[in-house]
Amino acid sequence: MAKVKGDILIDIEKCKGCELCIDACPQGSLEKSRKVNNKGYLFIVKIEDNCTGCTNCALVCPEGAITVYRKVDKEKKQVAKITNVTSDITVTVNE
Ligand code: SF4
Ligand code: SF4
Repeated sequence: MAKVKGDILIDIEKCKGCELCIDACPQGSLEKSRKVNNKGYLFIVKIEDNCTGCTNCALVCPEGAITVYRKVDKEKKQVAKITNVTSDITVTVNE
């Protein structure tokens, strides 16, 4: 089955540090930064690279500060099978 991997982009200047996204993330990917943005809010950062792209964080964010991306990895597919090799051969695989 194709594996879905997600990623998010946080607009830190929009973030008001309400923490709704932290509570909404089933992966525990988000945490509060120790730095403040230009408005003086402790903004959110991604602390784990385990986002599934579920979009929960973006849906609960009242500031629209999170954009979610999804990437579906191509399934592992056999491109060549070589049997009965008795001497050195050269194989070229066209992707
Ligand atoms: S998209 Fe889902 S898994 Fe990824 S950071 Fe947001 S809530 Fe967490
Ligand atoms: S829900 Fe939005 S405003 Fe609240 S902490 Fe998360 S990114 Fe910041």
